[in-house]
Amino acid sequence: MSDMADTGKDFIREIVAEDFRSNKYGGSVVTRFPPEPNGCLHIGHAKAICLDFGIAAEGNGVCHLRFDDTNPVAEETEYVEAIKEDVHWLGWNWGEHLYYASDYFEQLYEYAVKLIKIGKAYVCALSVEEFKEYRGVPTRPGKESPSRNRSVKENLDLFERMRAGEFKDGEYVLRAKIDMSSPNLHMRDPAIYRIKHARHHRTGDRWCIYPMYDFAHCLSDAIENITHSLCTLEFEVHRPLYDWILQAVEMPEPRPRQIEFARLNLSYTVMSKRKLLQLVRAGYVSGWDDPRMPTLAGMRRRGYTAEAIRVFLQRIGITKVDGITDIALLEHCVREELNRTAPRVMAVLDPVKVVIENYPEDLEENMEAVNNPEDLSAGTRQVPFSRELYIEREDFRENPPGKFYRLAPGREVRLRYAYYITCASVIKDENGRIVEIRCIYDPNTRGGDSPDGRKVKGTLHWVSARHAVKAEARIYDRLFTKEIPEDVEEGDDYLKNFNFNSLVTATCMIEPSLQGAKPGDRFQFERKGYFCVDVVESREGALVFNQIVPLRDSWAKIEKTH
Ligand code: ATP
Ligand code: MG
Repeated sequence: MSDMADTGKDFIREIVAEDFRSNKYGGSVVTRFPPEPNGCLHIGHAKAICLDFGIAAEGNGVCHLRFDDTNPVAEETEYVEAIKEDVHWLGWNWGEHLYYASDYFEQLYEYAVKLIKIGKAYVCALSVEEFKEYRGVPTRPGKESPSRNRSVKENLDLFERMRAGEFKDGEYVLRAKIDMSSPNLHMRDPAIYRIKHARHHRTGDRWCIYPMYDFAHCLSDAIENITHSLCTLEFEVHRPLYDWILQAVEMPEPRPRQIEFARLNLSYTVMSKRKLLQLVRAGYVSGWDDPRMPTLAGMRRRGYTAEAIRVFLQRIGITKVDGITDIALLEHCVREELNRTAPRVMAVLDPVKVVIENYPEDLEENMEAVNNPEDLSAGTRQVPFSRELYIEREDFRENPPGKFYRLAPGREVRLRYAYYITCASVIKDENGRIVEIRCIYDPNTRGGDSPDGRKVKGTLHWVSARHAVKAEARIYDRLFTKEIPEDVEEGDDYLKNFNFNSLVTATCMIEPSLQGAKPGDRFQFERKGYFCVDVVESREGALVFNQIVPLRDSWAKIEKTH
C-alpha cells in the first residue's frame, strides 16, 4: 500500500502512455466499466470505476458504461438504475456512451455463425457433467467430444434450431473449437452459447440462447472500439481466449487489449455480490443501502463522501498483487475530510440529567460555540444553557478509577463553552441507577475559562434539557467480527462471523440548532464521532442520525483543543 499511487504512476497508466507514444490506437483511449446488473455496486467496483473513468479522462478519451447483461436469470432493471446513480455519485459521466451487451445479441449471433462456417465452433451434445469430465484437469489432456467433428452444415442447422427454441435448456451448447490438450482449461473448447429459456430484462422472450461472458465480452469491447479493457486478476487466465476469439472472427486491428489488476478486498466485510445479496435476502441487513454494507448505496447513506472514497482508492493505488486492505484506512480518509468540513455540534447519546443547584431556575444564557475549529470561516453559533442539562452517562463515575478525569463526586470539570461545575451529590432510583447529578457552578468561569487560572482536566459536552431535541442515533460497528469473514473452519460459513452488534440504536438529546437538519447533512457530534442525517428514514420532528465514523480517540481530541 502506498501513499504515492497518484495518477500516472501505476503499470496500467504506463501501458496507456506507451500506447500513446507508439500511436497504437491513433492517440485515443477508450475504456469501459462493465457491471453485470445483478446487484448493487460495492467499493470494489468503485476501484474499477475510478480506474476506467480516470484513465479515460486523463487521456482525453471516453469511458463507456456497458451493462454486461448476458445472463437473463439474475438481472434486473432496478439494478441498472441503481448502478447509474452510483457511478454518477462517484463523480463520473459516461455521456452518450451507455451500452448494453444485450444490444449486440444479433451481432454476437452472427459472429458465432461465422466461427461455425470457418470450422472454429461446433454444437456439442455433452451434458454438463460429461462436459466437465471430458475437459479434464490441467495436467492431462482432455478428451474430445463426439460432437467435435460434426460438419459445418450440421452445426449451422443445429445452431439455428437452438435459436429457434427447438431444444431444452442444456440439451446443446455451442463450443469454440480450440485445443483439448491446452494446459489452460479455458482453451479446451469453451462453451460460447447456451440454451436458456428465460425472459431477459431488455430483450424479453426474443432469445432462448445466450452468449457466455467470455464470448460476449471481448466482442462487445471490439464492437465499441475499446482500446484498454481493464479487469480484475481472475480474468488473467481468460485472456488467451479473449485474444483467440477476436483473432478468429478477424476483428480489424488494433484490437482491444485486456489488462488485469488486483481486486480490492477490505477487512471486516465481504465483497461478492452473491454474499451481499444473501445478507439482504436473509435479513441480516435492511437492504443494499444498509449503512453497514460495503456498497456505494450503503456508504452514501451512511454519510461517506464520494471524495473520501476517491482519495482512499488513490492511496491504495493499482497493482497486480492481491491483498486485503485495512478498512481503517477507508475510515481514516472519511474522517480526514469530515474533520475539515463537518460542523461541530453537541449531542448526548446516552443522557443523564445534571441539575445546577445554584443556577437560577428561569435563567437562560446563550453560549458562543465554534462551528469548526479547523475552519474558522465557519463562524460561531449560540447554544442555550440553563439549570438542567444532559451529559453522557459515561462521563460520570461515582467511584472514578485512576486516569478518569471526568465528573465524579467532589470533582470539578468544564462544560464546553459554558462553565466549570462541581458535583455535589447524586440521586438514584430504587434500583440504584443514577437519575440525577446535582452540581454547583462557578459563575466566574463563563465561556469555559477560569479567571484565576484554575485548571480542570475534563471537558464535557452537554445539552440544555429544556432546549434539547430528541433524536435517534444509529451507531455502527464492523459488519463482521473477523478480519477475513470467509476464514472459517470446515463446514462453517462466513455468516457465522456476522457481527450482531453492528447496529445499536440510541435515543439521544441534541442541541436545538440541529432541529432543521436536512437529510444528508453531516456533523461532528463533539467527542462522539461524525453523524449524517439518514436520507431514508429521518423526518422533520423525528430525526435519525447515522454514525459515519467514530472519532479515533475522542478523549485525546477534546483535550487537545483546550
Ligand atoms: P462480484 O465478484 O462482487 O460479484 P463481479 O466481478 O461479478 O463482482 P461485475 O459486475 O461483473 O461484478 O464487475 C464489473 C467490473 O468491476 C468488472 O470489471 C470487475 O472486474 C470489477 N470488479 C468487481 N469486483 C471488484 C473488486 N473487488 N475490486 C476491483 N474491481 C472489481
Ligand atoms: Mg462478474
